[in-house]
Amino acid sequence: MGLSTDRIVNNQASTLEHLFCSICHEVLWHPVTCGTCEHSFCETCINEWFQHQQRCPNTCEYQQRARVPHLLTQLLSQLKATCKNTTNGCIEIIPYEALEKHEQTCLYEMRKCQGCLKSILKQNVDQHELQCEYLEILCINCQATYRRRDTHNAIECLRNQMKNQNNLFELKITSLENDLKRQTELLNNIDQQQKTLIGQLDKQSREAEGRQWIR
Ligand SMILES: [Zn+2]
Ligand SMILES: [Zn+2]
Ligand SMILES: [Zn+2]
Ligand SMILES: [Zn+2]
Ligand SMILES: [Zn+2]
Repeated sequence: MGLSTDRIVNNQASTLEHLFCSICHEVLWHPVTCGTCEHSFCETCINEWFQHQQRCPNTCEYQQRARVPHLLTQLLSQLKATCKNTTNGCIEIIPYEALEKHEQTCLYEMRKCQGCLKSILKQNVDQHELQCEYLEILCINCQATYRRRDTHNAIECLRNQMKNQNNLFELKITSLENDLKRQTELLNNIDQQQKTLIGQLDKQSREAEGRQWIR
């Protein structure tokens, strides 16, 4: 999408009309130029266009120019615009080329509080979240998360802690049981090997005895 004409403050209708994107009919934003017809479009507009179309909006064979025409860059750079956060209180008038950078750092940007989901000025959000009743916080004693407004009482906290302890014990017991099982298997194995060995020895000594008889 382009930059809305309403936001341009040094509006000269005669120049402005050369700076329109013919897809969104707003002032070009991140322009790219078709080298065949020399028309320019916002980068996002032309990308969206080619998701459904094969040819340039002017029906020509689209070939993107390596650079947009110098005159176009020059005209665009003369524009000045209001910040997108004007309605939140930002009164800055910003040159076209500095607009993007300003808006990335504008203090009048709104952000949602993670708790109550209200939109709040970015600069106030941290302060707000320190007190927001709806924000989930973690109890360092029992590791439970709860909304600040639902603070749990000491009994519930203790109950949680006991539950955590029990879970820990159960884990330990299971691991001990597994250890025991493994050791029993090992012992059984050794037992089995021993029996086989004794069997073999028996057999060998019987054979030896047999040979003595024959002699
Ligand atoms: Zn556009
Ligand atoms: Zn074209
Ligand atoms: Zn601003
Ligand atoms: Zn909040
Ligand atoms: Zn707790």
